[in-house]
Amino acid sequence: MRELICINCPRGCRLKVDDDLNVTGNFCPRGAIYAKNELTHPVRTLTSTVKVQSVLERRLPVKSSEPLPKEKVFDAVKELDNVEMKAPVHIGDVVIANVCNTGVNIVATKNIEK
Ligand code: SF4
Repeated sequence: MRELICINCPRGCRLKVDDDLNVTGNFCPRGAIYAKNELTHPVRTLTSTVKVQSVLERRLPVKSSEPLPKEKVFDAVKELDNVEMKAPVHIGDVVIANVCNTGVNIVATKNIEK
């Protein structure tokens, strides 16, 4: 039996998962999906910032367009260290395509016009 806390919402349900991946303690179906994924193929949404050439800002907030395999997150953060964007940048602009060969893009989450 494994115990996890669901991180999908502030309720933070305490989940119990048996050896057959039967989940209890979840208030909604998202908890069961989270627990099964966490024990078989954990993923995380990456949020961070990168350098930006701008008269207004020094850093551009970014996120992964989809959750990344958890084991790739550290390498993805290292790739972000080498990125410098140039204004104008708009929400959804691709900052890194196919980061770490995951098929996931890193995208801007803020508009910086100049
Ligand atoms: S199981 Fe559902 S209600 Fe409970 S923390 Fe997860 S998302 Fe929230």
